[in-house]
Amino acid sequence: MLSSEKLKQNALTSIRLGMEDFQRAVNPVKADGDPERALSAARNLFAGILLLFKYGLALRVKNPEDVDALLFNPPKQIVPHPDGAGGVSWRPVGRFAKQTIDVAGIKLRFEAFGIIVDWDAMQQLQDERNNLEHLHPTKSVGAIAGFVADMFPIVQNFVVDELEEGPADFLGPSWKVMLEHRAFFEASLKQCVEAWCANPVPDGVKKYIDAVRCDECGSQLIVPREDEDDQYSCVACGEVGSLIPQILDQLEREEGGFDPRDGEDPPLADCPSCDKPLFVRSEGACRWCEHEMEHWECEICSQALTLEDQHNEGLCSYCEYKMGKDD
Ligand SMILES: [Zn+2]
Ligand SMILES: [Zn+2]
Ligand SMILES: [Zn+2]
Repeated sequence: MLSSEKLKQNALTSIRLGMEDFQRAVNPVKADGDPERALSAARNLFAGILLLFKYGLALRVKNPEDVDALLFNPPKQIVPHPDGAGGVSWRPVGRFAKQTIDVAGIKLRFEAFGIIVDWDAMQQLQDERNNLEHLHPTKSVGAIAGFVADMFPIVQNFVVDELEEGPADFLGPSWKVMLEHRAFFEASLKQCVEAWCANPVPDGVKKYIDAVRCDECGSQLIVPREDEDDQYSCVACGEVGSLIPQILDQLEREEGGFDPRDGEDPPLADCPSCDKPLFVRSEGACRWCEHEMEHWECEICSQALTLEDQHNEGLCSYCEYKMGKDD
């Protein structure tokens, strides 16, 4: 049987181990840092938050049996039991399952008990944890730094508002590490945002910079390079990389797919002026250098012209071919 005290201890242990893994992971590699710990940090911390939530639920009921009923998955089926005298009663098939409830189960119960959590932030955290499962260890160091910064408000709000505890007392040394990291991370992020604001990245791509992460460590903490305007350098690991592939990914998602079998052109093309693959056909312009198509329709037959027709001096390829023949 689960007791609220046991849940609390498990939650605190999980968070403590997670923060220890985190500290080991983000130590510079030469000073006994171990990037492989980033994933176990994310797993421990996420599990710790769920345990904290379950502890919060357990506190809401007086009867110890109700704790189990709340935290384990209930039987799925309810079937009729005839009493042999024309009456019928409904009973669940089987017992409460061995598995405890997941995020969706916690959310449903929290709604019933009026316990408030920012579920959008929780979803983002879960996505970040899942993302870490697929990252190379060297890339995960920057990503775990973002994870710990993002989990901070969730843990803080829950401990203060729902458990009505002081986070420093309740979480012990883990809290101090979390707090300092959050402050450091926020300050660094602010500097990065300011650096991008001051930097003349073309307006057409500015909004994509937010989502660009360091190719090496996955960190959000990247700043523009002074002399190479299509590159970033990473504050967390020093990596220098190109902005273009990640901007292109986002643009491609926005513009959607195409079917070459239907004779469709890809929505993006290499720009004839700056060579970057950021020329958006539907806009007839390059997002990077703002180069625009000069000729939009054929001067003879009015057919819409594409990027590839531009060298025909305002004619479509068919009219250009016919004109050539007439000469
Ligand atoms: Zn990096
Ligand atoms: Zn261009
Ligand atoms: Zn034409």
